[in-house]
Amino acid sequence: MTAEATGRADDALARELAAIVSPAHCLVDPALTAPYEVDWTRRFAGRARLVVRPGSAAEVGRVLVACGAAGVAVVAQGGNTGLVGGGVPRGGEVVLSLRRLAGVERVDPEALLLEAGAGTTLADAQAAAAAVGCELGIDLAARDSATLGGMVATNAGGIHVIRHGPMRARLAGIEAVLADGSSFARLGGLVKDNVGYDLVGLLAGSEGTLGVVTKVLLRLVPVPKVRVAALVALSVRPGRGGGTAALLSLVDAVRREVEGLEAAEAMYRDGLELVCAATGLAPPVGFPAADAWLLLEVGGPSDPTDTLAELLGAHPDVLDTAVATDAGTRAALWAYRERHTEAIATLGVAHKLDVCLPRAELATFEANVREVVRRAYPEARLVLFGHAGDGNLHVNVVGPPADDPGPDDLVLETVRRFGGSVSAEHGIGVQKRAWLDRSRDPADVAAMWALKRALDPRGILNPGAVFPGGQ
Ligand SMILES: Cc1cc2nc3c(=O)[nH]c(=O)nc-3n(C[C@H](O)[C@H](O)[C@H](O)COP(=O)(O)OP(=O)(O)OC[C@H]3O[C@@H](n4cnc5c(N)ncnc54)[C@H](O)[C@@H]3O)c2cc1C
Repeated sequence: MTAEATGRADDALARELAAIVSPAHCLVDPALTAPYEVDWTRRFAGRARLVVRPGSAAEVGRVLVACGAAGVAVVAQGGNTGLVGGGVPRGGEVVLSLRRLAGVERVDPEALLLEAGAGTTLADAQAAAAAVGCELGIDLAARDSATLGGMVATNAGGIHVIRHGPMRARLAGIEAVLADGSSFARLGGLVKDNVGYDLVGLLAGSEGTLGVVTKVLLRLVPVPKVRVAALVALSVRPGRGGGTAALLSLVDAVRREVEGLEAAEAMYRDGLELVCAATGLAPPVGFPAADAWLLLEVGGPSDPTDTLAELLGAHPDVLDTAVATDAGTRAALWAYRERHTEAIATLGVAHKLDVCLPRAELATFEANVREVVRRAYPEARLVLFGHAGDGNLHVNVVGPPADDPGPDDLVLETVRRFGGSVSAEHGIGVQKRAWLDRSRDPADVAAMWALKRALDPRGILNPGAVFPGGQ
């Protein structure tokens, strides 16, 4: 053991926590704690006091009691795939890793419910649902690592929000531990249950600041009989308003004409160029002539291919299309979209802004944000992509130093001018906490503070996340 590890282990709190979770799950060695101390983007990092990995909700409760008594803050962490720095320590907190609370406990294809520990990965929950002919209605590219508890805590979105809503809409119940170590469970799975306040909905999107999610009850949907994906290359003729306007007009048309639209994802030429260079994927259909690409997925009881082909054939901006009906070829089309995040990471540490715009403003915003970033940071690489059907774009600026808040503020100020949201689906974390006050009315923020103080009076749950100025 290094001297630092020995010092950490000698700490009275470390001894108490080791007694609760067993020494093997109370990590003090810097070589073991390091992966928990830096986030997926490598932009946010801090030293933990130690990392504790409880194996049950009861242990989570005892850990919180011990930390509360010692006045030591706790940062809950699931798969550590969050993109706003909320799941890693800022300095001196105990990291509470929930990954050991993994495992699907119940899948009910009649009631369409799945119950699992908060540390279960999305991929494992998806596999359990698929085994009974169902799916979760939520999916995202970090599925192999992102945990259900983390997805609740961030109210994760992903590629199927357009059809099934975000994580909050998929939740039928949770079990959670509160800051004082007490716990509650709402796992009955009733279709209707209006008894009191919606604490389940409140914890969704609370980013580890109001309670620790230990179990999740999710709604399932039956797997559609037919599923078709189409990658559509769009070439914009002069006067038709740019790639995003073309994307949106096509999404509108598909919504009107085709039943079961499950995903509508936007990509642009610069992003696809990067994805192909970084991953070795062959250039997609319509490359490089097209200005924008729309990845559509449609699922339902009957084959939509003919309707889709007719619609795409008649649309004035469609340059070319690739259609996939079996799982393998669908995945090949999805790779162009899903590998954007990893391709951007090869350029360096990105300023990642996840924003949502009103339908009427999205196209102008896209052109405008490119222009303002280019003017202010002419050397930066700018890559946009996102969930076009939800008005949700991911704006990535690579080049300016990671600790420079300038690019974030520039993009978010532009979002505000267009009436958008500075956080579409990734949350506030530490990255955007300065923007909470700028995005909500004073009474709205005061109500959030009141909830925080009521549920976590000592301010031990993820201080420094969500709220500006500490807690
Ligand atoms: C390649 C890639 C693609 C992505 N795509 C999407 C996407 O399409 N849509 C989307 O919304 N997000 C996306 N994300 C972001 C990320 O996957 C989600 O935010 C996910 O919900 C985080 O889950 P996690 O288990 O990794 O949580 P973590 O990163 O560990 O934590 C995230 C936040 O939740 C809190 N938390 C974690 N577990 C718990 C718990 N059990 N109880 C209470 N609080 C907890 C943490 O304190 C932190 O504030 C993507 C990330 C990557 C790397």
